[in-house]
Amino acid sequence: MARMSYAEQLTHPKWQRRRLEVLDRAGFRCERCLDDETTLHVHHKTYRKGALAWEYEDHELVVLCEDCHTDEHRGPSIDGLAALVAGCLEKAARDDRWVREQRRLYFENVDPDFERRRVDMLAALDARFPR
Ligand SMILES: [Zn+2]
Ligand SMILES: [Zn+2]
Repeated sequence: MARMSYAEQLTHPKWQRRRLEVLDRAGFRCERCLDDETTLHVHHKTYRKGALAWEYEDHELVVLCEDCHTDEHRGPSIDGLAALVAGCLEKAARDDRWVREQRRLYFENVDPDFERRRVDMLAALDARFPR
């Protein structure tokens, strides 16, 4: 059978059944805001290449109300993204300081000879593969 489009998959009986299982598991309410009055959707948290809509494990599917589902696909706001990026940069700077400090301590305390061996190794490489 030819590859089904995603829209076709969503009308397939196998998806209808899978969807009901997931809705039932969630007690027919949004798993994020617990709303049980708004239309519910079954959202795929990730997509796997080649997998059909119903070929996903329980932990890959989540019940969301229409509003939460819209939010989910819209993604974080610009402010949210900016905060996320700032947080990552801050963490990277911290990690970088930590890594450099660890490297310094390592060279100082554990392997004071490393720098000389590194130079020897580079010289040996240069001799073996002249630039
Ligand atoms: Zn919700
Ligand atoms: Zn979705």
